[in-house]
Amino acid sequence: MTQLVIHHRDYARPMPPRVSAVTQPFWRGLEAGRFCTTRCQDCGKLSFPPKEFCPHCWSDAVTWEDLPPGGRIYSHTTVHIVPRRFRIEAPYTLALIDLDAGLRLMLPLLKPLPDDGPGAIGHRARLVVLQYSDGPLFGAELEAAP
Ligand SMILES: [Zn+2]
Repeated sequence: MTQLVIHHRDYARPMPPRVSAVTQPFWRGLEAGRFCTTRCQDCGKLSFPPKEFCPHCWSDAVTWEDLPPGGRIYSHTTVHIVPRRFRIEAPYTLALIDLDAGLRLMLPLLKPLPDDGPGAIGHRARLVVLQYSDGPLFGAELEAAP
């Protein structure tokens, strides 16, 4: 199990997630610094968000597993104009990250990147926990400066 780096924020999540019975183990794991999701025991594929059945083959034989935090940035964009509730976080960069585990996730990057040039495309990144005053979310940070 890999412990994720936890970054603290002193304000509440702008849009808290809806936690269901199915996703509760994910959020509990995230609070403890783990990023876990479900894997199908019939076809072997991962799902995210976690599901009680496999969206690839419809099997209900799924189990939870912790994912290693590493990945590579596929693309990114920086958002400057935001809905009112996200104003405290603007500007922020959203990145599509191909995790080494095989999932592609869209995640906020901890430090905004410049809009011009290739930026951090192709660079290594890792999942992190964003611990807000009312609970956790997740994001990513570069492993080294682009
Ligand atoms: Zn499956």
